[in-house]
This record gives sequence, C-alpha cells and structure tokens, in this order.
Amino acid sequence: MSDLTGIRTPFYLYDLDLLKKTVSIASAEARRFGYFIHYAIKANNDPVISSIIRDNGLGADCVSGNEVQKSLEYGFPNSTIVYAGVGKTDEEIKLALAEEIFCLNCESAEELDVIKEIARLYGMKARVALRVNPAIEADTHRNITTGLDENKFGISLPHLKNALDICSNSEEIEFTGLHFHIGSQITSLGPYRRLCEKVNNIWREFDITAYGGSMLNLGGGFGIDYNDPEHNSIPDFKSFFEVFKRYLKLPAGTDVRFELGRSLVGQCGRIVTRVLYTKKGVGKKFVITDAGMTELMRPSLYQARHHIINTTSTGRTEKYDVVGPVCESTDVFGKDVVLPETVRGDIIHILSCGAYAGSMTLNFNLRDRAPAVYESGGRILSHNEINDLRGFGSVLMP
Ligand SMILES: *Cc1c(COP(=O)(O)O)cnc(C)c1O
Repeated sequence: MSDLTGIRTPFYLYDLDLLKKTVSIASAEARRFGYFIHYAIKANNDPVISSIIRDNGLGADCVSGNEVQKSLEYGFPNSTIVYAGVGKTDEEIKLALAEEIFCLNCESAEELDVIKEIARLYGMKARVALRVNPAIEADTHRNITTGLDENKFGISLPHLKNALDICSNSEEIEFTGLHFHIGSQITSLGPYRRLCEKVNNIWREFDITAYGGSMLNLGGGFGIDYNDPEHNSIPDFKSFFEVFKRYLKLPAGTDVRFELGRSLVGQCGRIVTRVLYTKKGVGKKFVITDAGMTELMRPSLYQARHHIINTTSTGRTEKYDVVGPVCESTDVFGKDVVLPETVRGDIIHILSCGAYAGSMTLNFNLRDRAPAVYESGGRILSHNEINDLRGFGSVLMP
C-alpha cells in the first residue's frame, strides 16, 4: 500500500489497478455472449474513474440531464448513452434528443406524450425503450428494490400495451425495445433468473418483436461483498452473465445490454479518515472520525454496513461505535466494530466506497468536499499522470 502520510483527511482513495481489472473482466465476460455494458455513472462520476471505464469501451447509463452532459464531456460517444428516470424535465428530454443519445428509457405513458410533443416541436425523432416494472422481488434491502408494484419506477404490466400502442401510433417515436432494472445490491442470481423468465413471457405476450423491438436492456443491480471486500474484490461476472445466456429465450439477434454501476466500481474505493477522538460513553466507546455521513451516506440512508479497519494500531482489540462528526444521530458507520485499541490520530479505512459514496456527497454542515486520490502500481499518482488518464492533456487540471 502507498504511503498516505501527509495527505489531508478525509479523502477517497481509488485503486485504479483493481478498477481496470474489474472492468476488463466484466467486459470480457459480457462480450462472450455479445452483450453490451453501459456504466451507471450515478455510482461514481469521478472523472478518472469514468475515463478508465470509457477507455474500456463501455457506454454510459444516466439518470439526469447533467449526467448525460457529463458523460458526453468525458468522451462517452452519444450513441452509447442511455437515459432513464421517472421525472425527466422538458429541458432534459430536449437535451437527450438534441445530443442524439442511443435511447431514452421511458417510465410512463404520460412521459411518452411529453417526449412525443418535444420531438415534434423540434422536428426530431426520439428513440425510446420502455422501462417495464416486472413486479419482481429482488431479495435486497427494501429501500433499494425498484421492480415492485409499490415502487415508482417503470411502466407496470397493466399499462404496457397502451404504452406500446402510443409508440407505434406516433411518428416521432422510434421504439427500440424494453428496459428493466429491478434493484441494487442483489447478491444472489435467483432474482435474475426470475427476471429472465418474466422477460421471456412479456416479450411473447406483448409481441414486442411485432412492435419493432429488438433491444433488451436488463439494467444493473449486481451486488458486491461488503463483509469481506479484501478477499472478494471482484464480483463473479462470469456466473452473472451466464444466467442470462441460459435463461433468456428471445429472437436471435436481440441486442442485449446491461447497466452496471456498483459491481464495476464499488470495491475499488475506500475512505481514508483520521480518528479525532476516542470518547468514553456509557457502556460503550465511540471512535469519532473526521469523515461522516457527508462522505458516505449509505449507512444513514439504508443501514448499510461497510468493513472498517484501523491501519495504524495493532494489538488488543475492543468494540467501538465508529461515528462521524455530523450533527445527525444516524451519522454512524458501524456499531460494535471490532478494532485494535484505537487512539486519536489513528488512520481508519472504510472499505467498499467506490460506489454511492463520493457521488452521494452532501454539503450538509457546510462540510468541505473530500478529494479523490488515485493509486496504481503501489503508489499515488501525480497530477500529470491523472490528466493523462482523463485523456485531456496535462493542462486542464491545476
Ligand atoms: C442505479 C441504476 C443502475 C445501476 O445500479 P447498480 O446497482 O449500481 O448496478 C442501473 N440502471 C438504472 C436505471 C439505475 O437507476
């Protein structure tokens, strides 16, 4: 591990070697079956991370107009960008049409009407996939399921026929196919197998091919091992894609795509933070770090647990509640965390912070934004090396 002394904490530390390895394995496994991967840039929109993914030939999956704009800035070709979201504004739809992205993943009949209007107004044709809510249990935390009737996402099956008819009756819309995304941090393959079976039925029942559909986007959601990231740093992409190869029964030549976020970047990042105080409570001890929920919101948002290590101290272990400095009682990284006896000044690493950490940064309490530091070949990269990776020459970043 690189020498980190002297770098002001807290910061995100990204292991670019692990990132490259992960992305190249995922791409190779997808390519075996002719599948294409879009990177869900909301997982981590860091310029260096995104550029490495772009260089591996992945497309981008966006959930806002600004993400579409950012993906274009990062050099993702417009023909590889998809855009989903239940609440796209008129401006965002206009942007997607003007930039001629691959397709809009449309989430309701109401949105279709607006897309149609805007396309007509500007004399453009809108490529659209319909995001379907398949009513499938994803076996994950209830706050991150997306494919159930109670969730706001996608077009539910009773409304799908109507949406397909709007597409086929409208000159402004070019229907490309179906889109699904059933949730996040899904660690077993059962839900994906059920998704395949559901997709097969929907494709047949609604005769998607007759509507001109030839593209199937299955979304993302593949999980990572938050409990043992050091021994399980790369998800099993081989088994993941094999499930689809085995269970999807679609017309030959169907263009199958995925939108992976967490599984590509989650394990390549960690938060490096310093212990400000070890405080005695009643019946417990608190380790108070200089990172808080403002740098990693997942524990306070959905009781997520991250593996935490003390890289300074060794020896006798104790149990601590590891907490941040932010004025919220949920600003807790872990309760009863076993650490070697920890003192002020120790360096703590919170692992598996490559996804949904930096991109969820809060400005709450007017906290400073934690910077990113990049590591490769066992050392920290210089500004020039970072700029080379971004592919913008070495003048743009101070
Ligand atoms: C968030 C999201 C993804 C990526 O989810 P991961 O769990 O990070 O793989 C893919 N598609 C859509 C539409 C999303 O909203």
